[in-house]
Amino acid sequence: MAEETIFSKIIRKEIPSDIVYQDELVTAFRDINAQAPTHVLIVPNKIIPTVNDVTEADEAVLGRLFTVAAKIAEEEGIARNGYRLIINCNKDGGQEVYHLHMHILGGRRLGPMLAR
Ligand code: AMP
Repeated sequence: MAEETIFSKIIRKEIPSDIVYQDELVTAFRDINAQAPTHVLIVPNKIIPTVNDVTEADEAVLGRLFTVAAKIAEEEGIARNGYRLIINCNKDGGQEVYHLHMHILGGRRLGPMLAR
């Protein structure tokens, strides 16, 4: 069994968070340390620690991350101007929480993809 992180507690609503969407596969909530006017995390309800751990059995939930990202972008009013989706993997990718998640960032011009 993969180890739980704080995200499991958020999904189960055991600790406070600003949840903007939840269904049987994923939960989306605002990042506590927002890097842009819109910064939402979309998280599979089941624990998948990193992208390295995904399997074909996860394809439905991984697809749901994208359909929910598009829905949230529309609701947040950032779809037309654009936004960035990020999934960090392991140390070099800058992953801090080992429960796979997609960041949605938007609401301002984000600049180059990587820090120079
Ligand atoms: P990553 O570096 O891709 O693993 O991103 C982890 C993200 O989770 C960071 O942007 C954190 O600000 C965010 N985060 C950590 N704890 C919480 C929390 N309790 N509620 C909301 N966001 C959180």
